[in-house]
Amino acid sequence: MFDKVSRILLKVFGSRNERLVKAYSVIAQEAGEFEEQTKKLDDQALKAKTTQFKAALKAGTRPEDILAEAFAVVREAARRNVGMRHFDVQLIGGKVLYEGKVTEMATGEGKTLAATLAAYLVYLTGRKVHIVTVNDYLAKRDAEWMGPVYQALGLTVGAIQADMDTAGDDRKSQYRCDITYGTNNEFGFDYLRDNMKTSLDQMVQSERQYAIIDEVDSILIDEARTPLIISGPAFDDVTRYKKADQVTRKLISLHSSYDRTKRQIDSAERMIASAQGELAEAKKDKDKKRIENAQKTLETSQAELQIAQVRLSEATQYYEVEYDRKAVHLTHEGVGAAQEIAGVGSFFTGSNMDWPHLLEQSLRAHVTFEKEKDYVVMDGKVIIVDEFTGRLMHGRQWSDGLHQSVEAKEAVTVKEETQTLATITLQNFFKLYDQIAGMTGTAATEAEEFMNIYKLDVVVIPTNEPCIRDDREDVIYKSMPEKFDAIVEEINDISLSGRPLLVGTTSVEKNEALSAALTKKFGLEHELLNAKHHEREATIVAKAGQQHKGRDGRMRGNITVATNMAGRGTDIVLGPGVAETGGLHVLGTERHEARRIDNQLRGRAGRQGDAGSGQFFLSFDDDLMRVFAPEWTVKALSWIGWEEGQPIYHKRISKGIEKAQKKVEERNFEIRKSLLEYDEVMDYQRKIFYSRRREILAGKGLKNIIQEMIDAAITKNCDTILNKDYSLNCIIEWARTNFGADLRASDIAGTKTEEIERLIKRQAKDNAANNISLSMGEYLEDYSDPRSWDIAGLCKWAMSAFRVSLSPGKIEHQSPEEIEEQLISAAAEQIDKKDCS
Ligand code: ADP
Ligand code: MG
Repeated sequence: MFDKVSRILLKVFGSRNERLVKAYSVIAQEAGEFEEQTKKLDDQALKAKTTQFKAALKAGTRPEDILAEAFAVVREAARRNVGMRHFDVQLIGGKVLYEGKVTEMATGEGKTLAATLAAYLVYLTGRKVHIVTVNDYLAKRDAEWMGPVYQALGLTVGAIQADMDTAGDDRKSQYRCDITYGTNNEFGFDYLRDNMKTSLDQMVQSERQYAIIDEVDSILIDEARTPLIISGPAFDDVTRYKKADQVTRKLISLHSSYDRTKRQIDSAERMIASAQGELAEAKKDKDKKRIENAQKTLETSQAELQIAQVRLSEATQYYEVEYDRKAVHLTHEGVGAAQEIAGVGSFFTGSNMDWPHLLEQSLRAHVTFEKEKDYVVMDGKVIIVDEFTGRLMHGRQWSDGLHQSVEAKEAVTVKEETQTLATITLQNFFKLYDQIAGMTGTAATEAEEFMNIYKLDVVVIPTNEPCIRDDREDVIYKSMPEKFDAIVEEINDISLSGRPLLVGTTSVEKNEALSAALTKKFGLEHELLNAKHHEREATIVAKAGQQHKGRDGRMRGNITVATNMAGRGTDIVLGPGVAETGGLHVLGTERHEARRIDNQLRGRAGRQGDAGSGQFFLSFDDDLMRVFAPEWTVKALSWIGWEEGQPIYHKRISKGIEKAQKKVEERNFEIRKSLLEYDEVMDYQRKIFYSRRREILAGKGLKNIIQEMIDAAITKNCDTILNKDYSLNCIIEWARTNFGADLRASDIAGTKTEEIERLIKRQAKDNAANNISLSMGEYLEDYSDPRSWDIAGLCKWAMSAFRVSLSPGKIEHQSPEEIEEQLISAAAEQIDKKDCS
C-alpha cells in the first residue's frame, strides 16, 4: 500500500523542510508494508499487539524499531472502529509528533486522528499522554471520537472538563487514564491547585511526561501573553479606583479639545495626501476638471491644516496616548490638573504616590480599552476577550489595577484587588513536561519563536490532496464606509450564486454591525458567531459549507459571520452540489495583527482538495493601518487617485500592509519574551518551593528537613541578636516605621535616649518640611501672583494632612513663606506630641 501522495513527496527536493518531509515520508512505506498482515489479525489479536510491543520494549527493543508496525496497528484499529484509515500524510504527522516537534497540517487534514499514532507509541514507552485542546467541548469531542481507537488497543481514555470538582474522583480518574484530553487552562490550573492543597490525596494531576498540544500556535503563542493566575482577596482599599475614575473622566473632558484638534489635523493630512494622489493621476490623464477639483481640495485642506495647527499649539495636552502599546502617560499639565481635581495634595509625597499610576491605568481603561472588543460586561463582571481569537477568557484578569480600573469605568462592582496566590506562564507550564509536541494549520510564520522559546522544530506537511483554493488578492478601499458597503454587496452576490460564505471579523462589535447591515440591506438570512458558546458554535460552523432555499425558492449559500476563533477545530464540510458552485468562500473583513491568524481564516476553505476561495477586504481606516502604521498610511494615500467607491489594487500597498503586520508580530513577540523573563525568578522559586512542599506532604525525610530549618533559624537569629549593634538596629527600624526617619548606626552609637529622640524628631520634621514645600508648589503655582493660587485646594489639603484649619480670607493676604511656616510648625507640633517612651 503506497499512496500516490507519498510518491509525489519522494520526488520533492530542495528546501530544508522538503528534505525533512522526504525523510519522514519513508514511514508511509514502512507502515504500508505491515498493512496486509495487520489486517488479517482479528480484534483480539490486534489488541494483543499492545502487550507484545510493551514486552519487546521492556526487553530492550528501541521504540523506533517498532514504530512502523505500531503505526500500522493504530491505522488498522482506526479503520475498524471509527471508519477512517490514516492517510500517509497523517502517518508522517504522527511521526513528527512522536519526536516532539510541531507538525503543521492544514485545516481538515485530520490532525485529531494523526495524534493517535504518537499517543499510542508514547504510551507503549510507559509514559502518560496529555492531549491539549483549546476548549472543553473539543476535549470531550476528541476523547469520544478517538476513544474507540485507543480502547480497541487496550488503552484507557479520559477528558477533563472545567466543571469537574477540582479535588474529586471524577477528575482524578480522568488523569489516571493512559490518554487524557483537556484544555491548557485545566491542565495548568490543576498543576497550580494541586500545589496549594494540604494533602497528597486531594491532588489530581498525574505526572507531566508528554503532551500533544492541538492548535499549538493559539496556545503557546496567542494565549501565552497572559499567565494563569489563581488569586485570593487582598484587603485593600477599592474606593481609590472609583476616585481615580472620577478624576479621569474630568481629565478626558478637559483633554477633548486637544483630541478633537488632533483628529482634524490627521484628517486634513490624509485629505492632502489623497488630493496629491488624485492630482498626480489627473495630470497624467490631462483631465482639466479633475486637476481643478483636486487643486481646490488641496488648498482648502492645507488651509484647514494650518488653522488646526495653530489651535493645537494653544490647546492643553493633558496626556499622551500610545494606541499601539495601549499605553497612556500624563503630561506635566495633566498631573497638575489631576492634583487639582483630586484635592489630595502633591502626588509626589507619601501615600499620594499611588495616584499617577492609578490615573494612568484608569486612563488606559477609558482611552485604549473598548467594550465589546477588548472585553465584554456579563452578569456584572468584566470578562477579557482574547484579541487574537475572540474567545472570552473567563477567570483571567488584567493585572496591576487595570482590571479594577475597567470595572470602575463600567460602573460594575470593583472587585477587591486580588493578590496572586499562584501563577505560572503557559510557557513555563509546558516546560514542566518531559516532552511536548504540537499541531496546527498555521505554525510556519512563527517557527522561529517555537524554536527560541520552546525548542520546538516545525515541520510543514503537504496536504493529502493538492490544495486548489483560490487565494485572491486583497481589495483595498480608501474609507471604512466604502469598504463596508462593498462587503455587504459581495456577500449578497456570492450567496445568490449558491456559494456558502464564511465571513471573518476581528471583533464582536464589528461582527454585530455587519450582521445588522446584512439584514437591513438585503434581508439576508445568516448565522452570527462570536466564540461565546463552543458547542452551539460547532453545530453552526459545521453547516457553514451548505446551502439553503431562499424565499424565492432558489438555492443560496449559507452565510456565517464569525469572529476569528469561533468554531476553530470544527470541520467545514461542503454540502451536496456546493463544490460545483465553487465551494466555500472565505471573506476577511480586515487583516489581523498577525498573518498567522489571517492564514488560519483562509484555511477554512479548500480543505481536503475541495474547491474554495478566500479574499480580504481592507481600508485605509482599518486599525492595523491607523494604529500601527499611521505615517505610512498618509504616504500611501498620495500614491492613488480618487474614484469614490472603487477598490484599489496596488502592489506597494499590499506590501506595506504586510510590513505593518510583521512589525506588530515582532512587538507581540517581545511582549511574550519579556513576560517569560519576568517569570524566570518565580519559576525557579516555584519549582523549589513546590517540590519541597510535596516532600513535606509526602512525609519524606521530614526529620531532616525540620532539622535543617531549626539549624537555619538558630544561625540567623544568633547572627542578628548577638550582633553588637543589635539594640541600635532595633531603634533604627522603629524610627523608620514610626517616623519615616532614616538613621545610621554611627549616628546613635553611644548616644543618650533623649538625644536619640531629638534626632529622630528632627529628621521627621525635616522630612515634613520638605513635603510641605513640594506640595505648596502644586497649589501656589506662581508665588508672586496670588491669582494663580488654588486656595480652596490648599486649605482642604492642610486640613486632611495636618489637621490645620487655614482661613481662605487670611491666606490671600499672607506671603507663601508665612503659610509655609504655619504648616511646618503645625506638622512639628504633631511630631512633638508623639510618644517615644
Ligand atoms: P483538523 O484538526 O486537521 O482540522 P480534523 O481532525 O477535525 O481536522 O478532521 C477533519 C475531517 O477529516 C474530519 O471530518 C475527519 O472525519 C476527516 N478525516 C480525518 N482523517 C481521515 C481519514 N484518514 N479518512 C477519512 N476521513 C478523515
Ligand atoms: Mg483540529
